[in-house]
Amino acid sequence: MPRLGSAILRYETVNSTNDVARDYALKGAPEGTVILAEQQTAGRGRLGRKWESPAGEGLYASIILRPHLKPFESAIITLASAVAVAETLALDFELVVDIKWPNDVLASGLKICGILVEAAIEGGAIQYVVTGVGVNLNQREMPEAIRETATSLFLEAGRHIAPEDFLKLLLVRFDHKYRAALETRDEILREWENLSTYARGRAVTITSFDETITGTTRGLTRHGGLILELDSGELREIITGEVSLRTGAS
Ligand code: ADP
Repeated sequence: MPRLGSAILRYETVNSTNDVARDYALKGAPEGTVILAEQQTAGRGRLGRKWESPAGEGLYASIILRPHLKPFESAIITLASAVAVAETLALDFELVVDIKWPNDVLASGLKICGILVEAAIEGGAIQYVVTGVGVNLNQREMPEAIRETATSLFLEAGRHIAPEDFLKLLLVRFDHKYRAALETRDEILREWENLSTYARGRAVTITSFDETITGTTRGLTRHGGLILELDSGELREIITGEVSLRTGAS
């Protein structure tokens, strides 16, 4: 497997690095190809939500992966991506970080990084996975719409870093975590649980397409689902959904 980032394709402005990466993946670009943009005009989060991507102020990058995993095993890629970003922020920049399941990286309880993993599945097999990473780096103040919920590396650590330099540090960790995810999934699950205060004992509400449920988190399943103990005592595996903390409880 080539080292992740052995090819980096640089763009000034793109709609979304994930869209550009998807086009390359469809044309056969090898695993590890990275698309890096200075800005995105239509950066996306999950469910088509917008990701604010001002020029030069954040990392906007997408990595093409071709993992030998079954589609139902692909959640480990999502968790490994979050671990890679969280470790980079913690170990290279001494930030105190947290991960909100499955892959929002937080600093001071505010979102500093969003990750969007999009997999193409054909005939029951993964064709490719595009992992988009948006990290807020140099914003001195967050846009009005997300001021209450988001932060940047500069706001947290008082340091300015060029997106390309952050990418270099991230790719070293990403490469390692990705290999670990494919070889010994358990290591990533354990690391994720150690980095996330959401992993265990948190009273949360989970909203998915058609329901809202409440309970207490009880760690991850082997496949990266979140185990939730409902108030009735029943255990549920959460595969998808939006986690929020229940206020007044811990
Ligand atoms: P994901 O869960 O895949 O990270 P989300 O859908 O949670 O994606 O991300 C989009 C949401 O994040 C938006 O609805 C907005 O509230 C918030 N958001 C948008 N841009 C940023 C940003 N640069 N930093 C932090 N939060 C952001």
